[in-house]
Amino acid sequence: MSKTPEKLINEKGLRLDGRKPDELRPVKIEVGVLSNADGSAYIEQGKSKILAAVYGPKEVHPRHLALPDRAVLRCRYHMAPFSVEQRKSPAPSRREMELSKVIREALEPAVFLEYYPRTSIDIFIEVLQADGGTRCAGITVASLALADAGVPMRDLVAACAAGKIDGKIVLDLTDTEDKNGEADLPVAMMPTAELITLLQMDGMLTTEEFEEALNLAVQGCKQIYEAQKEALKAKYIEIKEAVQE
Ligand code: UDP
Repeated sequence: MSKTPEKLINEKGLRLDGRKPDELRPVKIEVGVLSNADGSAYIEQGKSKILAAVYGPKEVHPRHLALPDRAVLRCRYHMAPFSVEQRKSPAPSRREMELSKVIREALEPAVFLEYYPRTSIDIFIEVLQADGGTRCAGITVASLALADAGVPMRDLVAACAAGKIDGKIVLDLTDTEDKNGEADLPVAMMPTAELITLLQMDGMLTTEEFEEALNLAVQGCKQIYEAQKEALKAKYIEIKEAVQE
């Protein structure tokens, strides 16, 4: 087990991994990584590694769950047993059920569900390695998997957390910062319309700190959004080049 650090921010104002307070972890995204899913994407944000796959729109099973006027969006967030320091039971935990629900609700406003009545769109999020911020990275990568599946969307959904450690507001907390810090504020948004689709908070913040953290998280989402668009474009540039060869 890793030890509890005494300080999360050093005298130079840098965090344990050398980041400045308002800095994101390195983000690497790839779109279209699974051939058997309709859409897929993979993200590495620092040490967190997450895969998302989308199936659909397709016939709903069981059929009584079908809605006459729109598609049903279903989401499963799952952590692999080897994704955390202490083996996680493969059975769905209460936390995974909550995250599956809030992630679905964060993505739903972006999807034109009314285009596909009586169908379902299923999203699977597999956390392969967790080091904090997995619900946000899960939303980021799932919205890319939806886009990769060709599901019409109003915008991508980008997500990022801010929080408070050693009395300072910081962006994109690691697991150690989350566990030893004072607060964590995950945010997801559709950046073009600046519409927030997820806002949660764990810990304590004053009103001023909350506003500072929210603004920082929004800036983080906008940076993630740029990385999402680059990753989508990279896939289609690859396809175009392959067609031309
Ligand atoms: N975590 C863990 N075991 C668990 C669940 C979570 O070690 O069963 C760690 C994991 O690194 C996760 C972090 O705790 O990323 C923070 O979890 P939280 O519930 O705050 O969600 P997240 O920040 O990942 O969205």
